[in-house]
Amino acid sequence: MDEEMAEDSPAVAKRVLVVEDNELNLKLFCDLLRAHEYTTEGVRDGREAVAAARAFAPDLIVMDIQLPHVSGFDLIVQLKADDALRSIPIMAVTAYAGREDEERIRAAGADAYVSKPISLMRFVDAVQALLKSD
Ligand code: MN
Repeated sequence: MDEEMAEDSPAVAKRVLVVEDNELNLKLFCDLLRAHEYTTEGVRDGREAVAAARAFAPDLIVMDIQLPHVSGFDLIVQLKADDALRSIPIMAVTAYAGREDEERIRAAGADAYVSKPISLMRFVDAVQALLKSD
């Protein structure tokens, strides 16, 4: 029987699914995460986000809130209602910086909230805080 040690190795990159309809932002987030040695998968169409989460099995989901067709808020509700997916931490990213929006998004199940325009350092700090090994 083969002994697969790789899965337990600290060298295995954590996986981040990025849901963002803006192509430039999506590339920026994915490039930034890859530069910090995360494995990334990008989704531009929110309607594909739940299936992508199932297929990619990420350690973290970065979720834009303003999306066409389906809001990031509704996607957070869907993900948190799914037994197989609800344990994946979600970091919401949104241009809406109002207190009410932040509270509504956190109440839906987002574990962190970063407002646009994005500070790259705060973005990475928030990702690392959510993925730090326990
Ligand atoms: Mn957007």
